[in-house]
Amino acid sequence: MPQNHHPHLWPPFTQVSTTPPLERVLRGEGALLYRDEGPPLIDAISSWWVTLHGHAHPHVADAIARQAETLEQVIFAEFTHPQAERLADRLAAKTGLERVFFSDNGSTAVEVALKIAIQWWHNKGEPRQQIIAFDGAYHGDTFGAMAVGARSLFSEPFDPLLFPVARIPWPATWWDDDHVEQHEQTALNQLEEALKTPTAAVILEPLVQGAGGMSMVRPTFLQEVEKRVRNAETLLIADEVLTGFGRCGDFLATQRAGVKPDLVALSKGLTAGFLPMGVTMASGAVFDAFVGKDPSLTLWHGHSFTANPLGCAAANASLDLLEAEPDRYLGFEARHRSRLEVLARHPGIRRVRVTGTIAAFDLVVSDQEGYLNPAGKVLRRLARERGVLVRPLGQVVYLLPPLCISDEQLDHCYSVLQEALDLLGT
Ligand code: PMP
Repeated sequence: MPQNHHPHLWPPFTQVSTTPPLERVLRGEGALLYRDEGPPLIDAISSWWVTLHGHAHPHVADAIARQAETLEQVIFAEFTHPQAERLADRLAAKTGLERVFFSDNGSTAVEVALKIAIQWWHNKGEPRQQIIAFDGAYHGDTFGAMAVGARSLFSEPFDPLLFPVARIPWPATWWDDDHVEQHEQTALNQLEEALKTPTAAVILEPLVQGAGGMSMVRPTFLQEVEKRVRNAETLLIADEVLTGFGRCGDFLATQRAGVKPDLVALSKGLTAGFLPMGVTMASGAVFDAFVGKDPSLTLWHGHSFTANPLGCAAANASLDLLEAEPDRYLGFEARHRSRLEVLARHPGIRRVRVTGTIAAFDLVVSDQEGYLNPAGKVLRRLARERGVLVRPLGQVVYLLPPLCISDEQLDHCYSVLQEALDLLGT
């Protein structure tokens, strides 16, 4: 029986019979969430990795309010509008990818990237179906995004309906990992083998696989992947839904890795976490194959809320903030690193790793690792009781705070983790 959850809400990723009722948040400010009971919580996971500059940031809030009084929505197949044009210009300049296709969230940004890749080959008169993806990947919960994501508990009922994908191992690494070269070589060998079949695209989460367990790879691995993609003359799709907008210590993770994808999916930080929106960026060479008199060349895809002016206003305001203070994301890794070096000495953790604003480690557990491993849940409760919101992925614990988090707040997150680890007794 549901444990006194709200009678009409169906929360995501939640089994209501085994989860206590969800707490109610009344407002947010900076890194803090204010509940109707209890002291404020430090949002150390940016509320599913979306809150980029902090909750209720006044610059973004004002931009949305002003836009709401000016133009809230307009059919984007008939009209453009100043916020969309400005945002497209800025994203093109920052990413080096010429075209911006708007949609509603991370999953749709990935769906659109996949559809563009498949239709690109179709339009060129050389249809290709094979997509190559990586073990452990998560690209969203719609059908195409699920298909390229790892098969898991989440996808199980739908597995028979998901299109097949060639799957390559993901050579995740961490501090003091002695086997990384070997793992990378195995992955690259398998990639070369898979690329012998004509391939429409290779899709990956650059530098950090998110929901799959904050699994990090080295930039050089991505460069080797790119070389092989180029040799096979196929397309590279970077799913930067999580990693974009400074999360990995550069504007894009692919920029930090020195890799140039043909298509990039963006969402989450795009609107600073204020409004749901996604974009798929495409190179000029990709776009060109969709231009011509034959109607079948058109990308017949669109959403009611395409290029929603409020979302575009939020995204422009967020870019203002990123441009005004780039050190906030460029320098975040050092803030994690100094604190993580201390925590890494704890015997209860292993596989310590950091990329940009994302710090992660695994709890040492005796039972099976994975999303259902209970150790993280205990740590989550202990941290919550001490004023910090974390949401481990099974035994994987991570911090992914908003850029505005103060040094004192970050110190508090780390000391709470230290205390929770002591209490866990691992
Ligand atoms: N891709 C990645 C890498 C993600 O992390 C996520 C969401 N966690 C998605 C796609 C899907 O985004 P959304 O939940 O907005 O559909």
